[in-house]
Amino acid sequence: MISPGTLKTLYTLKEAGYEAYMVGGGVRDLLAGITPKDFDVATNAHPEQVKKLFRACRLVGRRFVICHVRFGQEVLEVTTFRGAITDMHQRDETGRVLVDNDYGTLEEDAFRRDFTVNALYYDIRDFSIVDYCGGLEDLKAGTLRLIGDPELRYREDPVRMLRAIRIANKLHFRLDPATAAPIGRLSALLAEIPAARLFDEVLKVLLCREGVDNLYGLRVYGLFRHLFPATEALLGEAAQLAFLNDALRNSAERIEQDLPVSPAFLYAALLWAPTERRARQLQDKEGHPEHLAMEQAGEEVIARACARVAIPKRFALPMREIWSMQARLTQRSPARARRLMTHPRFRAAYDFLLLRARNGDPALMELADWWTRAQADRELPPLPSSAADQSEGPDAATDEARAADEPGKRRRRRRRGGRRTGGEAAPAG
Ligand code: ATP
Ligand code: MG
Repeated sequence: MISPGTLKTLYTLKEAGYEAYMVGGGVRDLLAGITPKDFDVATNAHPEQVKKLFRACRLVGRRFVICHVRFGQEVLEVTTFRGAITDMHQRDETGRVLVDNDYGTLEEDAFRRDFTVNALYYDIRDFSIVDYCGGLEDLKAGTLRLIGDPELRYREDPVRMLRAIRIANKLHFRLDPATAAPIGRLSALLAEIPAARLFDEVLKVLLCREGVDNLYGLRVYGLFRHLFPATEALLGEAAQLAFLNDALRNSAERIEQDLPVSPAFLYAALLWAPTERRARQLQDKEGHPEHLAMEQAGEEVIARACARVAIPKRFALPMREIWSMQARLTQRSPARARRLMTHPRFRAAYDFLLLRARNGDPALMELADWWTRAQADRELPPLPSSAADQSEGPDAATDEARAADEPGKRRRRRRRGGRRTGGEAAPAG
């Protein structure tokens, strides 16, 4: 079950006279009877030496250089053994290690890893497992245990708290009591982690088969509130929690079936509770119309969330579209329905509506059913030819729908740049 790229890398390094081992999640998962997601290689060859051996090799990372070796679709991470962390290493005031780029021996590398089961090395020379940290025993017992002093290790890198929840659930292992104990107390250290790294870690922990269990674990250990405080404050409402769990379960099922999953959809679900609430406030107190309230609420909630978990623009934009379409989906007219259905985010917005309907207001179920029928309905007359014109693009449809939603706004829109006829677009709605 070891990938061909991994074997090729291991043998190439070996034949060049270096030590090379398969390590990390790949070894751990194989020994635990799970199909590994990827394989990592550890070697005593330095990055420049690795680069000379492989045609498609890229050096990445500033703090600690890692080699990405590519074999077709497969990308392997090849890392040089890391040296021990000592008191000489620069740390911030919470204990987080700031600079760490010393190379070391195999043994030092083992003790630098997070959990004992992640520090097992597969040696191709004699097909043995090298185990310095008692990982094999823990693997047999189903225990996830940090190497070394747990508090110190969490302080060095607080992301290990998220990894503990994720890996324990993935393997169906229990957290060793000493590994579990400090998490609640240290959970606030997540604030020290760069927000961009947390974005990736949140995806790993929630956009996976064990997403529902991981959300539960993150909340039990008080980690979730440091990632999404505004959401945590509202998850006491049974319907909000059910909604989020349903979204996670949906994604998990898609992953199970090898279907693509969208980070934007996940994040839209994660921040829906505070967005919905804020939108309602803006409607009730400020008298905003529904779709404007939703747009403003989305913008505010994302901006605040980004202080902790940085959501890249390429995901923030579709998230806001999914949300603002929730308001637009409440307005049913065959003409508008046809337009909305051509929007690139329609499918996601419709799925989102279904989730809301399943986990809350029964009135939404009726609306969701209407949209289900609208999509299946062959009786709907075809789109007017100018509106169906692909060159107009989906955004045009959105603009028109928006203009049509706003009373008093002109219902006709000039064709951009006076293309072709220079005439007017089809009336919306
Ligand atoms: P998976 O790939 O299934 O998500 P993994 O354990 O392989 O799990 P990776 O992020 O691929 O996770 O890391 C590969 C290996 O690098 C780990 O098994 C571990 O040995 C080491 N490692 C990763 N992150 C850390 C960390 N924060 N602290 C110490 N060691 C780490
Ligand atoms: Mg891995």
